[in-house]
Amino acid sequence: MKKNYGLNTICVHEGEVEDKIYKGAVSPIFPATAYAYHGAEESAYPRYFNTPNQANLAKKIAKLEHTEAGLIFGSGMAAISSAMLSVLKSGDHVIVQNQIYGGTRNFIKKELESFNVEYDFVDLNNFDAVKSLVTDHTKLIYLETPSNPLLELVDLKQISNLAKKFNLLTMADNTFATPINQRPIDFGIDIVVHSATKYLGGHSDITAGAVATTKKLMQPILLKARNFGGSLADQTTWLLERSMKTLNLRVQQQSHNAMAIAEYLNQQDWVKQVFYPGIKTHHQHELAKMQMSGFGGMLSFELDQEIPAISFLGELKLIKDVLSLGGVETTILSPTKTSHSLLSESERQAQGITTQLLRLSCGIENHEDIINDIKQAVGKIT
Ligand SMILES: *Cc1c(COP(=O)(O)O)cnc(C)c1O
Repeated sequence: MKKNYGLNTICVHEGEVEDKIYKGAVSPIFPATAYAYHGAEESAYPRYFNTPNQANLAKKIAKLEHTEAGLIFGSGMAAISSAMLSVLKSGDHVIVQNQIYGGTRNFIKKELESFNVEYDFVDLNNFDAVKSLVTDHTKLIYLETPSNPLLELVDLKQISNLAKKFNLLTMADNTFATPINQRPIDFGIDIVVHSATKYLGGHSDITAGAVATTKKLMQPILLKARNFGGSLADQTTWLLERSMKTLNLRVQQQSHNAMAIAEYLNQQDWVKQVFYPGIKTHHQHELAKMQMSGFGGMLSFELDQEIPAISFLGELKLIKDVLSLGGVETTILSPTKTSHSLLSESERQAQGITTQLLRLSCGIENHEDIINDIKQAVGKIT
């Protein structure tokens, strides 16, 4: 697709697999894992990462992220680990944002040592602290914005400028924002990674991941990915393609709901604090307006002591108390008990993650119904 189409059109049509036989309206699934090899280049050998369905869906993701190349993975962690380990080699050093997805943090802490890669966690908005960590061995700055679970932002333009000055690569996890609300590449970030399990899949029924970057940077990532083998089945690739047709519609509604719910929660005296970049009281609201075209469907809030978080969760009727995020249904969880349970108590405290903190993933329902569910749960406790 050459033309500059709008977001909905790209979501629906970019990277369709043409049905040349029956002229059907949707992409056929090509399940073959064995293809004719005569005349095919070694790099075109189809099975891992470049079957017709995988290669075409990668184009949709690349188009949305404003990159030359995309790659689909079997999970977000497969995408993140393959991308990171293709950039980093023995003796290298990576600077990591201190607030990131618990699984990624665990990967860095548990795996990088055995590859002889050093790392430092730091607040990426403290530029002096970042600069002081750069050594001759530093290769990469890794970040997430907005972050999980406190919706802290990293200034993409500033951090990519800083990285360029020191000749470092930058990698951003764009799962929370989605390419609908933020394109890190436009601010100078080199590599974008995704858990497509979340918004790109959007229905809480697919595990998948993606990487988007330049053709040049993608080459070593593809080679590493083949060695690690985290590719996605074509049936699931097809489901992800179907899901992504409604990505813009879903994310618009989720962002709209999150704003309404954040504004409601912000006015309640039983809420200690609301974390949502879309509201004026968020300390980085101006930055959010600069680098995001929408503020996303994720928000967190800290309940006052008189509403114990666990009791509150037990009273919810519509909002599901389940893991994960980004689905069409509204879900809620306690980061202490789930996504950040692998962190030590002191690590959680340092990040401001308390037992009264709850993370809400807003679905596409009518926001009045979600707010009413919150109201009735609070009413039962007070
Ligand atoms: C879920 C998640 C991941 C990991 O993705 P999986 O698909 O579960 O492997 C990475 N980053 C963020 C921000 C996530 O929310």
